[in-house]
Amino acid sequence: MNRVSTVSIHPSSIVETDEIGDNTSIGPFSHVGQNVHIGKNCVIGQGCHIQDGVHLNDGIHLENGVYIWEGVYLAEDVFVGPQAVFTNYPNPRAFSHPPQTEEILQTKVGRGASIGANSTILCGHIIGAYAVVGAGSTLTHSVRAHEMVYGNPARHQGWVCECGSALFDIRECVECGRNYEMIDTGLRLVER
Ligand SMILES: [Zn+2]
Repeated sequence: MNRVSTVSIHPSSIVETDEIGDNTSIGPFSHVGQNVHIGKNCVIGQGCHIQDGVHLNDGIHLENGVYIWEGVYLAEDVFVGPQAVFTNYPNPRAFSHPPQTEEILQTKVGRGASIGANSTILCGHIIGAYAVVGAGSTLTHSVRAHEMVYGNPARHQGWVCECGSALFDIRECVECGRNYEMIDTGLRLVER
């Protein structure tokens, strides 16, 4: 297996796992903990922290200064903007830190979703596939597939296509022509 030759890790970073997929790069001054899995074709920026045991799927892009903690799950092709922070513990106290595993709430981010710069993602929620959390948001609830939210607290602002364009009419994206229908969990692509 000659995987090593296709993985790029800046020498200033501390990487405590061997489970890194092909064509993945890790920028300077990042820390990747033990038993972390990082898929192929990922970009981990500068100054990121990925806690022990986190599983990152293929094609994920973390901009600089992103913090990913135990209990956070990112599906394929998730984008996380600079300085975005996840949390995993709803009731932090200095005198009961670190939390017990049973006190951690899971956060799941669906395939292709984007988290804007400087967002704070409170734990225990699901962000649907291809959803967008706008820059500077504080997310306090779950987000449906293809839903666009932003603000503090983040609120529903509209819908967004897989291609990234805002959907003025879910029946047809003006940029790429994809068609959607509304279901309970958000938008679903209508195959033509
Ligand atoms: Zn589109």
